[in-house]
Amino acid sequence: MLLPKPLPDEVVGSLLIRACLRTGLNRNALLHAIYETRRSSASFLLGSTVAELAPLAGMEPEDFLRAHTIFPYATAFMSERLRALLLLKAVMRGMDDTHLGTLTHSVTRNVATWRFCNLCVEEDVARWGESYWHRIHQLPAAWLCLIHRAPLSTSDIALRGTAVTWKRLLLPHHVLGVPLQLTRSHELHERLTLNSTAYLSEPAVDVESLLLRYRGRALELGWLVNGNVAGGAMSRALRQHYGRELLLESGSRAGGRRDWPALMVRLNTQVSFTPVKHILLNTFFQTSQDALPQLARAEDEKPGPKVADGQRRDHATARKVQVLLNRLAKCGERVTVTSLLMRAGAWETFRHDRSRFPMTNALVQEFRRSDLAERQVGRRPAWRRGSGE
Ligand SMILES: [Zn+2]
Repeated sequence: MLLPKPLPDEVVGSLLIRACLRTGLNRNALLHAIYETRRSSASFLLGSTVAELAPLAGMEPEDFLRAHTIFPYATAFMSERLRALLLLKAVMRGMDDTHLGTLTHSVTRNVATWRFCNLCVEEDVARWGESYWHRIHQLPAAWLCLIHRAPLSTSDIALRGTAVTWKRLLLPHHVLGVPLQLTRSHELHERLTLNSTAYLSEPAVDVESLLLRYRGRALELGWLVNGNVAGGAMSRALRQHYGRELLLESGSRAGGRRDWPALMVRLNTQVSFTPVKHILLNTFFQTSQDALPQLARAEDEKPGPKVADGQRRDHATARKVQVLLNRLAKCGERVTVTSLLMRAGAWETFRHDRSRFPMTNALVQEFRRSDLAERQVGRRPAWRRGSGE
């Protein structure tokens, strides 16, 4: 057979490398033999269309896609329609695979190099006579081997631009690795790894209801100010919880009120988020019990008159704005943001430095999208719309 039998959780690129090593064909010759075209590339993580490839490994295309590519992870948080379309493109013979290429970005943009576990390598060599690249070791925010509970090692083979590196035909036992440095507790890394790797085998999720659940969870955990989600404050807490290095390593910097964690708990958000962001937010909710009291302590400790005063002023302003909003909602009066803040006596200070009013600003942003705002985002002022609306 042209391709060897795929080993447990072996990523497709590893199978192709082993095929080259066994048959003595170089990469181009192997791909030519599989696809019977002049194709010269196949993604390390996804292969190319698996319709031609899977039968040569003795498998059904869909089973192969689910067991040996990052397809399940990359599509886990997509709409059902898009996922079905991509599945069709991946498993049908002769389909155009241009859309599939971007699927690997959710991994390759957040993981620098091919990874492996030294202990797995030893065991694989003992058991199979050679080592191979495991799919479960190549995911963003997954730094540990879950079998050996040890940090993974990075190779010097870049996950991006694999068209070049693939030619080296290297398996883990051929390369020297550098163990990944854990920047947070072992427990936190283990939880992140568990949550990331789960999407290789778990059924895909319904994203819309998931985003609503995030919002509910944020409120439950106390990320709220006067009944609204305090997305900015939550976002900053998330950055503290993980630290800069961890977020950089997983390609997901965060920290401000416009950042992805804040967007993920906002109502009717129209943005789609990469799997690693879902995993980081979800894991934050599961593990951030420590972060909440820390925030409370930071306030209690009176870190300095400037900060404490600023926070008090923000709290007081947010309270006033909320009282005004309740009053406006009762009588149905529409106002602009400026007039709302002027009535709260805070317009001048607020507009000069919004960053010092995170709570008030969260409230203002919610208000801007509400029916009470005179100028709603993306709509004409109420008085232009006529009395019929
Ligand atoms: Zn291992």
